[in-house]
Amino acid sequence: MDLGIAGKRALVTGASKGLGRGCAEALAAAGVDLVVNARAAATLDAVASEIAARYGVSVTAVAADITSGDGRDRVLDAAGQVDILVTNAGGPPPGMWTDWDREDFIAALDANMLTPIALMKALLPGMIDAGWGRVVNITSVSVRAPVAVLGLSNSARAGLTGYVAGTSRQVAPYGVTINNMLPGIHATDRAISLDAGVARAEGITPGEAKLQREAAIPVRRYGTPAEFGAMCAFLCSQHAGFIVGQNILLDGGATNLTI
Ligand code: NAP
Repeated sequence: MDLGIAGKRALVTGASKGLGRGCAEALAAAGVDLVVNARAAATLDAVASEIAARYGVSVTAVAADITSGDGRDRVLDAAGQVDILVTNAGGPPPGMWTDWDREDFIAALDANMLTPIALMKALLPGMIDAGWGRVVNITSVSVRAPVAVLGLSNSARAGLTGYVAGTSRQVAPYGVTINNMLPGIHATDRAISLDAGVARAEGITPGEAKLQREAAIPVRRYGTPAEFGAMCAFLCSQHAGFIVGQNILLDGGATNLTI
């Protein structure tokens, strides 16, 4: 299917690995020029060169912490006006409700709620002026069903989801859509570190923890960054202009919901 977005320009944050990289690659495969961001410059530069060579699009790499004001300013300066924004950053650490104080919540809200909101506030006006834009925020399955050990994530993602629910309706008249993608367990570094956490908590090996977590997913495997990226590119395509303010769950059926 031709997604109809060749020649558009996208900013993808948290793009050097995992789900963000999956989104960046799928957009590049659709002919979209990219500005990609992550903190570790060497990994990011290597990924940017690889994507540019493989898909023949322009890829600009900006190494910065997207959750800091300074980092965000540098990324936004390099990006200029974009047609597509995919927001992503690392998730907060797991723990118990007794572990977290105000500062922990402020850090989680900064990273996973206020950062995507700041990026949208900066880039939505250009999309509105152009009469076309697409925003996809990578959030989490925890928006639909809480993951008890991820209380910081549950809280921050819920705040972002509420913001998107209203704001997406305010920008839709201008040809701009905002949607969220909710990953269940995907085979990325983040999943491996969560496997290790389960292994420690239950006194089993990380391999056993992975098998246990896969068994709880109806498709009996973790998702892949490539299939996540394909959905992201579709939501950013010309075909997705009637999809507004949705929370798309990609979890292999793991969350037991009727709707
Ligand atoms: P990942 O494999 O660890 O990749 C995270 C990417 O974001 C890397 O490129 C990382 O590069 C970059 N990044 C992290 N913090 C950043 C920051 N402050 N500024 C700029 N870039 C940053 O993670 P993932 O599994 O793809 O997960 C992506 C998001 O989905 C996370 O928020 C995670 O909580 C959420 N999620 C994932 C799963 C899953 O199963 N994978 C499930 C539910 C939710 P640098 O480290 O170099 O910055």
